[in-house]
Amino acid sequence: MGLTGIQIMQKLPKTNCGDCGFPTCLAFAMKVATGEVEIGKCPHVDPAVKEEIEEASAPPIRTVKLGGGENLYKLGGETVLFRHDKRFENPTLIGTFIATDMSETEIDRRIGLYKKFQWERVGVKLFPDIILIEDKGDGAKFLDLVKKVRSEIPWAAIILSSSNVDTLKSAVSECGEFKPLIYGANASNLEAFCNLASETKTPLTVVGDSLGEVAKLSEEALKKGLKDLVLDTGAKSVKELLEDLVIVRRSSIKKRFRPLGFPVLTFTYRYASSLDLEAVLAGLLIAKYASVIILSDLTADILYNLMVEKMNIYTDPQKPLVVEEGIYPVNGPDENALVAITCNFALTYFIVNGEIEGSRVPTWLLIKNTDGLSVLTAWAAGKFTADGIADFVKKCGISEKVKHRKLIIPGYLAGMKGELEDELSGWEIIIGPREASGIPAFFRNLIKEMAAA
Ligand code: SF4
Repeated sequence: MGLTGIQIMQKLPKTNCGDCGFPTCLAFAMKVATGEVEIGKCPHVDPAVKEEIEEASAPPIRTVKLGGGENLYKLGGETVLFRHDKRFENPTLIGTFIATDMSETEIDRRIGLYKKFQWERVGVKLFPDIILIEDKGDGAKFLDLVKKVRSEIPWAAIILSSSNVDTLKSAVSECGEFKPLIYGANASNLEAFCNLASETKTPLTVVGDSLGEVAKLSEEALKKGLKDLVLDTGAKSVKELLEDLVIVRRSSIKKRFRPLGFPVLTFTYRYASSLDLEAVLAGLLIAKYASVIILSDLTADILYNLMVEKMNIYTDPQKPLVVEEGIYPVNGPDENALVAITCNFALTYFIVNGEIEGSRVPTWLLIKNTDGLSVLTAWAAGKFTADGIADFVKKCGISEKVKHRKLIIPGYLAGMKGELEDELSGWEIIIGPREASGIPAFFRNLIKEMAAA
């Protein structure tokens, strides 16, 4: 078990100097205990105590960091078995591989996919975030590939796979401050790989033929002083892989079994004969409990759906997914475009935005902050009221974007029409459909009526 806030506070200097950004040592200690703040934020804590607290308050699955700077990725750091117990912490990294025995055309195609597959959803950028570079016995080409990846897709986390320690050492050095993951230490090369990981301070993948062997190798690596490990359990079937993932998670969280308390790296193409089957398996692995998924290839449809799934699984269930308040242009609106308003619950935004896009009617979509509550819930909670909407419409700047003064409100808020017209002098309030599915027909008719008037 981790330390409590009081136990941590007793180990702090207790000067309440505020240098950590908290008014008292106790306030700081409480945040450290919940994992919201790192102990290193207190500049006055004794280094030995710092290490002790870090160790004691560390999550049962170690947080392993890859990359760096703006592109820092965290693997593991998980504290619960089920998302609804608290939340899952660090989203699964998903990508594919390139290898030294591939043609230049194929390598360029694969790297090109990383540049091409970039999306934005609810203000969050989605993209393939990790790439495995495999040395098939050509060290010079391997180093060229590392250079190429770093210069062409510098945001992507890197797994360096080679059996040659010297080649790996050069490749790690090529990455500079950007931390790659070394793959992989096995029973025959453990000592040399551990030395490399230790010398270069780089996370190391431990690869076994079975979960039992991985646990033994991991234990030996821990004895050699390594802390940042990733596991490849070497499962032979999907069933075995899922069992391994569950055992790793359960034994770390329930038993604090340290040799298995690390993120797990998975390869879908070991178990699936087509990319479609890989996609199904990857969908499962995101939920239970892979930290990295390497696919045999990337396609837009598969990757996008996996990215959206991981986004959903890794959102905090206690915090609704919200869209920022503001004016969102849909279908290239101008001064004659429709103006509609809805709440900032992300799901509502997506559905409404999608239906408006489908209608092809140019629209200014106003998103009002309702703390992530849906239309009726927000109205019932007093967060989507006539005066609140009127205030937002007056301040948001929509009056400068359109010539007319017509505002479409969700059908569920029909009872608010009169009050809203009183609050928003000069605006005509139009009651929209109750369900988003009614938007396309409603908007098309309305825009025709407005054009004819
Ligand atoms: S910086 Fe350290 S000593 Fe100062 S208030 Fe924070 S925890 Fe206490």
